[in-house]
Amino acid sequence: MSKNFNHKNLITSADKQCNVCGKERLKIVINLPDLPLTDTYCKEPPEEKIECFDQKLLHCTNCLHCQLANQINPSILYGDIYQFRTSVSQTARHGTELFIKYIDDICHPSSFSTVLDLGCNDLYLLNNIRHKAKKCIGIDPIWANREKEVNEKDFTVYGFNIEEIDLGNILEESPDLILCRHTLEHIGNPKAVLEKLISVSADNALFVFEVPGFDTLLKKMRFDQVFHQHLQYFSLKSMMQLIKELNATFLGYRENYHDWGSFTIAFSKDRSAESRENKVKIPDWDSSQIKKNYELFKLQMETANTILDRFKGERLYGYGAAQMLPILSYHMKNDFSGLISILDDDPAKDGLGYGNLPVKIEHPKHINDLEDATLLITAIDNVNPIMKKLLNIRPRHIIHPFHII
Ligand SMILES: [Zn+2]
Repeated sequence: MSKNFNHKNLITSADKQCNVCGKERLKIVINLPDLPLTDTYCKEPPEEKIECFDQKLLHCTNCLHCQLANQINPSILYGDIYQFRTSVSQTARHGTELFIKYIDDICHPSSFSTVLDLGCNDLYLLNNIRHKAKKCIGIDPIWANREKEVNEKDFTVYGFNIEEIDLGNILEESPDLILCRHTLEHIGNPKAVLEKLISVSADNALFVFEVPGFDTLLKKMRFDQVFHQHLQYFSLKSMMQLIKELNATFLGYRENYHDWGSFTIAFSKDRSAESRENKVKIPDWDSSQIKKNYELFKLQMETANTILDRFKGERLYGYGAAQMLPILSYHMKNDFSGLISILDDDPAKDGLGYGNLPVKIEHPKHINDLEDATLLITAIDNVNPIMKKLLNIRPRHIIHPFHII
């Protein structure tokens, strides 16, 4: 678990145009100076301080897309070992099941010739959908130099970054089902990538994509979900715009509300397919709404910190060692050094720390008398399973930094 955090001057400014509609109608809605990096788990504190990077959230007043102003070099963001693996995460596994169910609901019978998964991670999705297709293709940079480890006849894995290659030269067959879960938001130019996929796909190809939804982020005031790795923040309106830009046909969408406010969208390359665009109610809001909700979010963070301060010196733990914790710390203006430790049920995190936070992670098995302690929920996106567990343990107090669950 090592990662090279310190590369100086490796920051590039993103385009001034909207990454979806191309219009130069971007407004700065949120300033995030010195925003820390996430995913900084480490055994020992790093010798050099981990850099922070200035960030801004831009909003397109034409199509309601939001995007980051600055793109940090991926070697800093993801390091040598990007650790997230779908099959290890319960939320991601459940999200994948819902995603496959949606594909079944959209097409009957759902059998395909070649399925391509962009951002295939540890092949969890492809393994669970392989019975519906003759061939499976996975693309993900985490497979770079390891492609040959996948030794199954119906599987081909490519470890490249899709933005950097000519897909037409590489693929032997035209995929008729193209899937992508929680990947498009990490890509600098999503429209160019989709154009690429459309050009190599079969004429009637079905596209099913899932992304975190900005409409929900805004409603729940979860601005702690704005971070350097997510370059794009799709609203339903901007996603519909993207489908229009691609000359594709919108087939439907579904929310997986409890997993990053995500929504799944289906569209067809076939322009003669029946569009279901008129059947959808698309949320509409403007820049001032973002600013208003951001102010409310900041108030919540300030209040949570003040409340936490009242428990100084008591038996105080965090619960849930989220990779996003440095961002929560940033907004709460608290480095969590006042916590005895952050408890996490994942044995792989036991004994780790964060490269940019002075707090250790421990497995709860090391702690006696949790009912006598006060617990701060620190993995906001796992609040539901954590709450279920904690309500059984009955600690003295549970503090959740947000009003909305
Ligand atoms: Zn736009």
